[in-house]
Amino acid sequence: MRVVLIGFRGTGKTETGRLLSRLTSVPFLDTDALIEASAGMTIHDIFRREGEEGFRAREREVIRALPPGEAVIGTGGGVILDPANVAALRKGSTMVLLEADEAVIEKRIAASTRPPLTTLPLREEIHELLELRRPHYAAAADFRIDTSLKSPNEVVLAIRKFLHDGTVPLQARKSLVQFFAGSGIPESEVAEARILTDVDLWDPRTCLYGIVGYPATQSRSPALFNRLFRQYGITSHYLRFQDPDLLRILRLAEEIDIRGLSVTIPFKQEIIPTLTDVELHADAIGAVNTVVWCGSRCFGYNTDWIGIREPLSDHRGEKAVILGAGGAAAAAVYALQSLDMEVTILNRTVEKAASLAERFDCAYGPSSAFDRLNPAVVVNATSIGMEPELKSPLQKHQLRSSMTVFDLVYTPPETPLIRIARNSGCQTIPGTEMFVRQAAAQFRHFTGIAPSLELVRSAME
Ligand code: NAP
Repeated sequence: MRVVLIGFRGTGKTETGRLLSRLTSVPFLDTDALIEASAGMTIHDIFRREGEEGFRAREREVIRALPPGEAVIGTGGGVILDPANVAALRKGSTMVLLEADEAVIEKRIAASTRPPLTTLPLREEIHELLELRRPHYAAAADFRIDTSLKSPNEVVLAIRKFLHDGTVPLQARKSLVQFFAGSGIPESEVAEARILTDVDLWDPRTCLYGIVGYPATQSRSPALFNRLFRQYGITSHYLRFQDPDLLRILRLAEEIDIRGLSVTIPFKQEIIPTLTDVELHADAIGAVNTVVWCGSRCFGYNTDWIGIREPLSDHRGEKAVILGAGGAAAAAVYALQSLDMEVTILNRTVEKAASLAERFDCAYGPSSAFDRLNPAVVVNATSIGMEPELKSPLQKHQLRSSMTVFDLVYTPPETPLIRIARNSGCQTIPGTEMFVRQAAAQFRHFTGIAPSLELVRSAME
């Protein structure tokens, strides 16, 4: 057993950790105590002499050097803010998040001599930091317990019950397998999903994630995320939910205590009213492609725009044309405008281009207007070029060697547009670049770990 306790100060990590350690005869390692021992100073003195930065550096070092094997590990409240810490802590561990009401936390820590992290009054500091950290706690946790009204004994019992039984009842897993069998996903994936109901193979600590879409069979996310989970030693499994009825999938998701979902066509807008919290970028784009649950809260994010912005970050202020006016085009407009580009949207159905342009206050026109614009950056956000119909939205005579051409289509990895653009001397960016970057950002929302792009690329092969 290797259990890592995470959570805000005053949620009972130390007391719970000591008791769990005593009852299971597994050593208790408290990272704050280890930091004090290695520094030869109290945490108060480390903050006074080296500031929060110095403390975080020492904390990183202690986390990195934790011995492997069985242990109960208690951590500091801000440890989950650093994705490298989360990667080190998650390997082979069960991550347990302890939570408590703000008033309970205030009462428990009021007499503490620990230095404050802000200049705010204690109650406000607790509220502010909790709001900031909640998504990070949600991402890093396998299991969560509200300790507000529980004794340390009850908390330990809840942890042991989770380790033994998990949170996904057998009946819910059986219904899930039945759903997969009738959903049109590949037979090999249905067979793989039967592990969920196999008492010998099912690990009760497994947390479930998945993609929702209709169709969803083309997505490479299940293979990618399952490889990343294995790579980081995380006991989680990623599934494929294909159904025309989003609410049916969400009901099923609730029964199996799903932790996170990737959202694809046609549900990126439809899912929004079902969420409790939608981040700023997703709200501006009007689409959510990532959902993470944490108790009664349900967080929605958009990572598509990150996958478009990052490869174009050297093109700040340039003139750009976006082909298409659907969901991917909205993320592209948002990404390019965040780089101060002058954007024109061109689309087959010009009314859709007009309505998207009105939302983002930019220019628009019909697809035929391309030849008059001479842009420096071209983003294809139409589905032209997708398998099996291999066509290009632009022809060779329309391209100049000065252009950078980004094709968001990623099946096939080399589209006809990318081939023609390369032959015309353009700089080219394939859709796999967007996929890899949006997936890396999504994995961070799901797990608190920031995988390198090289690792995500290699996991896609
Ligand atoms: P969408 O909302 O359905 O929009 C499709 C767009 O393509 C619309 O503007 C549509 O024009 C246009 N279009 C489709 N067929 C056309 C044709 N034959 N001629 C001219 N225009 C055509 O789809 P989406 O979600 O925006 O996705 C668009 C593409 O982005 C897809 O190929 C998808 O694979 C890709 N994508 C890639 C990633 C990645 O990670 N690389 C992520 C998301 C999306 P009308 O308005 O006239 O119908």
